[in-house]
Amino acid sequence: MDSKSFDSSSIIDRYPLLISQHYAKLKEKKYADPNIQFDLILEVFAVILKYLSTIVCRCYLFNDGGDNKLNDFISGEFKTLSDGNWNRLLRDCLSRYKILLRQNKEEGVTGPLIMIQQMIDYYFNKFQGKNNNDHYKLMEQIIPMDDWFKDIQISPHNKSVFDLFVSLRNMKSHTPKKSSKEYETYIEILKPLLDHLLFELEFITEYQLCFVKEVKVEKEIFSHTVKYAMGRNFETTKLDLEDSYLNKDELYILKWEKHTLGTDDAPKIDWSFTLGPYLIVAECPACNADQIFILNNYKNKKINFRNFTCTHTYSPPEILKDLDDIDAYLAGEKSISNLLKGKIIGEFFKVDDNLADSPEKRITSNTMLQKSRKYLKENEIILALKFSQEAIDLNKDNHEAWFENAMCKIITLEDLDKPICQVKKAIQLAPEKAQYSFALAEIYFETGKLDKAIQYTQHTIENSPSHQEAKNLLKILNSSNGNGGSKVNNDAKS
Ligand SMILES: [Zn+2]
Repeated sequence: MDSKSFDSSSIIDRYPLLISQHYAKLKEKKYADPNIQFDLILEVFAVILKYLSTIVCRCYLFNDGGDNKLNDFISGEFKTLSDGNWNRLLRDCLSRYKILLRQNKEEGVTGPLIMIQQMIDYYFNKFQGKNNNDHYKLMEQIIPMDDWFKDIQISPHNKSVFDLFVSLRNMKSHTPKKSSKEYETYIEILKPLLDHLLFELEFITEYQLCFVKEVKVEKEIFSHTVKYAMGRNFETTKLDLEDSYLNKDELYILKWEKHTLGTDDAPKIDWSFTLGPYLIVAECPACNADQIFILNNYKNKKINFRNFTCTHTYSPPEILKDLDDIDAYLAGEKSISNLLKGKIIGEFFKVDDNLADSPEKRITSNTMLQKSRKYLKENEIILALKFSQEAIDLNKDNHEAWFENAMCKIITLEDLDKPICQVKKAIQLAPEKAQYSFALAEIYFETGKLDKAIQYTQHTIENSPSHQEAKNLLKILNSSNGNGGSKVNNDAKS
């Protein structure tokens, strides 16, 4: 990067608020004192580190959560959030994804993982262990400046720029205060290094940081009031969405699908996820302005968030439950579907035919199912089929809709393969429902597939020991063993 060509106003205008606001301070005359400048530069490093760590950690918890060592760290030491802990969280989560993404290479990287891949390139390829570039030259200049760095063996080839930043922070608090002249020498190197880091981080401007102020439905369109936290300000906007996606009072990262039609169209969210409870938006009790707070400490059920902009701290008790939920999840006591309010990223990572839909969709899905049942009673099979299909489309987890649609198809179609698959889907979603497994047992019985008929009849009786019809069918099936299927079939039909 040519640092002269690097436009600092682009950071102030476009980067996520907590980075841009703090970076803007660096440019203000009133903070020109080298001692303060040095601290401000380190603060920008800190906020970048914490922002990235939060994103990758949220992604890990929703998408993976399968690394015990990492889980122990998040639920244990991570409660005391030193810079070193944030740095370790970022490094370890990204390392985990580096392996996972390599393993899944042929399937391609999609959704939030696109951002994670970009972060991996950023962290490992640009800032650790590779080539000589401006960045390494700058890092190498710092190392001889204080014995502090020699002791911890910082080298641009085995440590990241964030390791260097943590060392600088530690140096500041553990060694005697330096002269203004000395701080100036550091600043001369650190400023271009920071610019370099931010320049390479440009990809995060594609992901809108956004706070949901109000959630509303108008004429079946979800019309929310959100505050974009990009640039230096919270910019309030109305956001029309086809689906609810967002919860009130939550901080999200949104990725838009590009506009394909006219510019008047509502943007379509490709994916989104919450950053809470590590990052939250709250009206600061001290300065009354909306601020983004970063989790600072979570010890003995005492919670403390700190802010980079107004320097105040905040202790909202309602977030404690979310953190407890995360702990319970990491300890295996709670399933991912119960974890937090921000279920969107969880939905994304589930396989397609297993999508959990929004509460609104679930309700509409049930309305469609009722309609389908009504038409089926009236023998309007085509309409019953149509509405039960709509119910499935709205909520792929609606096992009653799968079953209903399968029954409609059995009435209308000769080919049983599809309805059989659908009943299996219903069983998979609600294995305890004897009605489904018995229906499947009967279908197999009718079509002479006796082994499978036995299997599903037994399944039915296991779930519903008093199921008389299933017991009768099993008697017939057992007595038919070795007597030839077609005879039994005829007997049963008569
Ligand atoms: Zn404040």
